Amino acid sequence: MQTQQWLLNGHPRGRPIAADDLKLVTVDLPDPTAGQMLLRTRYLGFDPAQKGWMENVADYVAPMAIGDVMRGSGILEVVASNGGRFPVGTVVAGTSTWSEYVVHDGAGLNPCDPALPPTAMLSVLGTTGMTAWCGLFKIGRPVAGDVVLVSGAAGATGSIVGQLAKIAGCTVIGIAGGADKCAWLTGEAGYDHAIDYKAGPIGDQLKALAPRGVDVVFDNVGGKILNDMLGQIATGARVVICGGISRYETGTLPAGPENYFNLVFRRASMAGFIVIDWMSEFPAIRARLAALVAAGRLVYREDVEHGFEHAPATLQRLFSGANRGKQLLKL
Ligand code: NAP
Repeated sequence: MQTQQWLLNGHPRGRPIAADDLKLVTVDLPDPTAGQMLLRTRYLGFDPAQKGWMENVADYVAPMAIGDVMRGSGILEVVASNGGRFPVGTVVAGTSTWSEYVVHDGAGLNPCDPALPPTAMLSVLGTTGMTAWCGLFKIGRPVAGDVVLVSGAAGATGSIVGQLAKIAGCTVIGIAGGADKCAWLTGEAGYDHAIDYKAGPIGDQLKALAPRGVDVVFDNVGGKILNDMLGQIATGARVVICGGISRYETGTLPAGPENYFNLVFRRASMAGFIVIDWMSEFPAIRARLAALVAAGRLVYREDVEHGFEHAPATLQRLFSGANRGKQLLKL
């Protein structure tokens, strides 16, 4: 049997992803050996970190070489099994590749929660939800009454962070690009305030919305927005560095934020994290997030593109801000 696959064909370092950085090929698939299954990909999930994997600069994952099948996350259905871990018909989710079909032993894949649409396993119950939970509660450590400030707030991760902070009893301010994203934040996602960074400078708005300072910063963006947020931290603030998408397409690393010395004046801390360090806790966190969704206390938004041939263009949507919530592709 044959399958289509997207192969890495170029390292997009210091520039946006180009059309020829990925190459669509058709290859023969081997038959599943004992303990293996044939899986059909139903959805792919997209994360800004995939560009870093393509660049081969992130050292927390295995390097990607030219010719490797593009790495990602997916929802897959077991269509044949040679004594594999899951029966035929099981829908599973987890780390996968950009392939229509894969032969797999099931390692790293989990059955989807039958109570929710399977795509939730790539968004609120997947790495996205885990990132929001772990970054907020393990690094940000909010307490009721805190002011929590989130950049990239209308994105997949940011929108969950804000809602979890509300559940924890905090006042939540989000920064996002565009009036429609800001309206969604305050209208649907329960944010108290939203700032459109594309409409002008944000420093004065931050001062007006959080006059006594911000207790927890959850940063997905970096650069100028991080600097503005550091300018408004409260005494004892925790600054969580989740991501820095504003620099993912640039050739140089940004200069250190001018306002970093506020960390000293405000006795604050700033820490980064990689969510996989808490992988052993994912099942317990997933159960708590699923309960919040089932109780109607946590909403999540998914943005579904269609057609395997559009996978590279779908990844690029994250960098133009076109996505509304978790970016997915249905095959
Ligand atoms: P996302 O927020 O759903 O999508 C990316 C969003 O980033 C876009 O919609 C866009 O929103 C914003 N953006 C793009 N370019 C920008 C720029 N130059 N300046 C400011 N904003 C820009 O993606 P996600 O999957 O939830 O990921 C969010 C962040 O979490 C990323 O930085 C990712 O690398 C990070 N992450 C970290 C971990 C970890 O373990 N540390 C794990 C997963 C994800 P606007 O329209 O609002 O600009």
